[in-house]
Amino acid sequence: MSRVFNFSAGPAALPESVLRRAAEEMLDWHGTGVSVMEMSHRSAAFQSIYQQAEADFRELLGVPANYRILFMQGGAIAENAIVPMNLLGDKRGADYVVTGSWSTKSQQEARKFAEVNIAATAEASGFTTIPAMERWRLSDDPAYLFICSNETIGGVEFAFDPDLGDIGRPDLPLVADMSSNILSRPMDVSRYGLIFGGAQKNIGPAGLTFVIVREDLLGKAHKDCPSAFDYALVAEAESMYNTPPTYAIYIAGLVFQWLRAQGGVEAMGQRNAAKSALLYNYVDTSDFYENRIDRACRSRMNVPFLLKDDRLNAAFLEESAAAGLVQLKGHKSVGGMRASIYNAMPIEGVEALIGFMQDFAKRKG
Ligand code: PMP
Repeated sequence: MSRVFNFSAGPAALPESVLRRAAEEMLDWHGTGVSVMEMSHRSAAFQSIYQQAEADFRELLGVPANYRILFMQGGAIAENAIVPMNLLGDKRGADYVVTGSWSTKSQQEARKFAEVNIAATAEASGFTTIPAMERWRLSDDPAYLFICSNETIGGVEFAFDPDLGDIGRPDLPLVADMSSNILSRPMDVSRYGLIFGGAQKNIGPAGLTFVIVREDLLGKAHKDCPSAFDYALVAEAESMYNTPPTYAIYIAGLVFQWLRAQGGVEAMGQRNAAKSALLYNYVDTSDFYENRIDRACRSRMNVPFLLKDDRLNAAFLEESAAAGLVQLKGHKSVGGMRASIYNAMPIEGVEALIGFMQDFAKRKG
């Protein structure tokens, strides 16, 4: 068996110790004689797995007591519709800050349910920056303001938790798609009304969607909202309104235990800063590669980079894969390469990538 350094944007690399533990427990979980996959979601065994996962997630992220954590399905793309269906209430519209492909998709979907006001967009820059908060133009009475905290495709990340009090709207709920940077650094959950994301980058396998929602935002779902997507019903049923993705929750739980053993989000934040700085510094000092994102908004999770001579892209991908560095192809809308370096990517993987990039540049430059 040989494992490679996997730079996939998602589903993404998981900690090897988590995969080993899951393999050990595959046929017989803790003497129950069954796999977690074969358990009733209402059994005491699965309830204990669920309770531990929820408690660890809450502790890791410092989720305050007046927020509910929901484990749902449908991915972040479904949440683009589920959020307005649940939060609009008696308001007509919602505000969106557009910083790349994913927030563009989010506001497009929301238009099915709400009047959408684009409070700010970085489109004119080619989505290489985040518009300054002072320049956000909010509508008069939106139900919420939406951001994507990390644009997985463009490589643009909010390095801070926006405080809407700073722009005179302390009571406006801030909603964030955190699919690709959840648990990557310490954060202030209380700045947000609702946080959602797919699990398949920093948390676990695809199929699990997390939602962290402030309790006062529950209970306003549109009458046509499917019951399985009504946050209040899901919260009341402790994420068991329908059968939850049990195995994905189990793996997420193992990842949470791994994160705690690593020193939690504090340690992750330091490690992710160091990993991404290493790669950006190399790209910036090289005359062979480049990254065009505004330095203050560069993602620590997804590092897109271009070869200045794009005729070398195919050779780069072929040779890097042969060297055990896989899934480096950039998204087709951006081109070039993208190294996704989530929590589970060790610094050794980033060092190996830089070593390969240096060698490739020397040979082809
Ligand atoms: N938002 C962001 C920021 C993402 O990175 C992704 C997945 N790459 C999505 C939304 C879509 O997630 P899903 O496929 O889980 O619906």
